[in-house]
Amino acid sequence: MTYEETRDWIAKNWDESITLREWWRRMSDARLSFPRWPTEWFGRDASQREQNEILRAFGDADVLSGPTGLGVLMGAPVTMTHGTEEQKKRWLPPLAHGTEGWCQLFSEPGAGSDLASSSCRAERDGDEWVINGQKIWTSGALHSSRGMLVARTDFDQPKHKGLTYFIVDLEQPGVEIRPIKQMNGAAHFNEVFFTDARVSDADRISDVNNGWAITTATLAFERSGLSEGAGGGIRVSAGKQAGLLDRETGELVRRAKASKSHPDEHGGLMSTLMSVLPPHGLNVVQRQKMVDLYMNERIAEMTRLRISAAAKAGRAPGAEASTMKLHWTNGLRISRDLGMELLGADGMLTGNDQPAEGTIQHFFLSMPSASIAGGSDEVQRNIIGERALGLPKDVQPDPSTPFRDIPRN
Ligand SMILES: Cc1cc2nc3c(=O)[nH]c(=O)nc-3n(C[C@H](O)[C@H](O)[C@H](O)COP(=O)(O)OP(=O)(O)OC[C@H]3O[C@@H](n4cnc5c(N)ncnc54)[C@H](O)[C@@H]3O)c2cc1C
Repeated sequence: MTYEETRDWIAKNWDESITLREWWRRMSDARLSFPRWPTEWFGRDASQREQNEILRAFGDADVLSGPTGLGVLMGAPVTMTHGTEEQKKRWLPPLAHGTEGWCQLFSEPGAGSDLASSSCRAERDGDEWVINGQKIWTSGALHSSRGMLVARTDFDQPKHKGLTYFIVDLEQPGVEIRPIKQMNGAAHFNEVFFTDARVSDADRISDVNNGWAITTATLAFERSGLSEGAGGGIRVSAGKQAGLLDRETGELVRRAKASKSHPDEHGGLMSTLMSVLPPHGLNVVQRQKMVDLYMNERIAEMTRLRISAAAKAGRAPGAEASTMKLHWTNGLRISRDLGMELLGADGMLTGNDQPAEGTIQHFFLSMPSASIAGGSDEVQRNIIGERALGLPKDVQPDPSTPFRDIPRN
């Protein structure tokens, strides 16, 4: 579908008086929410280029984007590639229609970069599993109805081998979610406690004790998708928990425009930077940083095309996914530094009455998390070193010791 055809479709279908639920249903029926998904599952098997055209048309039309969130970023591709037919039929429609939001229940207080050290346990009980343990830094858990959970099912296996992957229902008594307050004032992520929570064996993805393979596949989808989606319209949270499904689209657009926007995309950042240019323009060094930002985005675009071509050829995202994550944080870092430099002393003030409505200052406080989220930049460099450059593997203490014998906090 071309840019013009998408604009025509938007002109015929956008209506400020319909609900978000109806808008997402229209987008999904027209296969416009996730153009690169397969035709059998709400997509149109679009090339990266076609998807870019479609996203650009939505961005230019200033209408709401399709559903966003970790469920569609990671949960759907993992279900498509590793789920059973029955799981696809059950989980993909609510994700595609935005009626369900998912979160990622991976990190624990003792298992972040070293995710294979997860100790949240799942024990078999007939057709169900009983879950006990804690997860942390779970983005959007409060608005999610399900979560992608990696849990230890065998403590006698080495740490990478005794893990199993489940899609767990969060709306049950054994699950407690506590928000964590961040230094930018938001409470984007949470602690999640499981006490005798239950998950059906039918909600397990892949074999028992094969969870590590599914976990790394999920992380690769996360990394390759993190920097996607420049343009594509105004984003709102998916899932009934977010409480927006039955609001009118016009109201949601007005609300999004009135609220202080915090750009997380290169395009948005570039225009925010342009809005605080000093009257005498940029000096040579600042111009160079602007060019660095532009080049970073172009290289990311080309890497995205390579990932897309690999996917078409049936290959999962590999080390390219890690380079995409580094492009993303690199762009954010350059923007942050240049933005604060352009603001000068104003950079110390926050609030809507500041230049660019305080966006850059807020961004300055939010940026450190980007280089940690989705696997830290250092860990991405390890992956690139090992998988793309063939360098010796990172030190792996205890690769064959049973997990229960590995000393841990
Ligand atoms: C905004 C945000 C959102 C997040 N959302 C989620 C989510 O939804 N779900 C979820 O499960 N988790 C989430 N996380 C958690 C995130 O995945 C972890 O924070 C991350 O994997 C790092 O783990 P850690 O915090 O335990 O740090 P550690 O692993 O303890 O790392 C500490 C430092 O040591 C470095 N380091 C560690 N190991 C190595 C190594 N082998 N080589 C070189 N350096 C190393 C790290 O780079 C880092 O600088 C989120 C984090 C952030 C910031």
